[in-house]
Amino acid sequence: MQIKAVGTSGGKTIRNLLTTFLVDNTLALDCGSVCTGLTLSQQLEIKDVFVSHVHMDHIGELPLLVDNKALYGKTITIFATQTTIRHLREHVFNGIIWPDFEKIPSADEPALIYRQVEYFEEVEVGDYRLTPLPVNHINGSAGCFIQKGDVGFAYTSDTGETDVIWEWLGKQTALKGLVTECSFPADMENLAVISHHLSSPMLEGELTKLKSDADIFIYHLKPQFANRIREEIKGLDVHILTDGEEIVL
Ligand SMILES: [Zn+2]
Ligand SMILES: [Zn+2]
Repeated sequence: MQIKAVGTSGGKTIRNLLTTFLVDNTLALDCGSVCTGLTLSQQLEIKDVFVSHVHMDHIGELPLLVDNKALYGKTITIFATQTTIRHLREHVFNGIIWPDFEKIPSADEPALIYRQVEYFEEVEVGDYRLTPLPVNHINGSAGCFIQKGDVGFAYTSDTGETDVIWEWLGKQTALKGLVTECSFPADMENLAVISHHLSSPMLEGELTKLKSDADIFIYHLKPQFANRIREEIKGLDVHILTDGEEIVL
């Protein structure tokens, strides 16, 4: 399994791309930079998208991806929780902010299909088995565990402190690699708590809950504090991702 970390930052600047991970070129996890970070032909290869939650840094370029593919007559399937799908329909693809691609080019053959997922219920997504997992972020948020053969990859997406995902992932013997977040430095723990993110010490605490020898990759550093966060977590056995980097499991 090859995971391209297209965008890994918790904030946007000319040098930082927002959250998008691409599994074997065909399955996108979030769409913060799915157009900025990929060529048109790479975008056209994407068949499915898992949307972890509707924060702008995770869905900002989803409407543009759907539009790009629709112009070539290609359909995209969005896998998300009921809450996330409701928000996408009501607030994004609502005919005002962006066209309702469930009716374009026609309701019979739309450019956009939603597939509702449930926590802990495995679904088939292309060649993969994907299990959505609850995390501590906004309502409807989900991380996921993706498995193909005996190789498993997990993505927590944005999350504050939690137990259930670590406990569940600890039982997955196929787990080879995991992406989780660290948004803030130690002295901004209050903001991390109220925004349901992790600070450096909180990340360290969370990782002690995971009973696995999987490789740990970190994303979502706020660029304003990235240097401090790097310094604070340099003793942990983790790898901080950079935009465009590839993970091979
Ligand atoms: Zn978020
Ligand atoms: Zn985010």
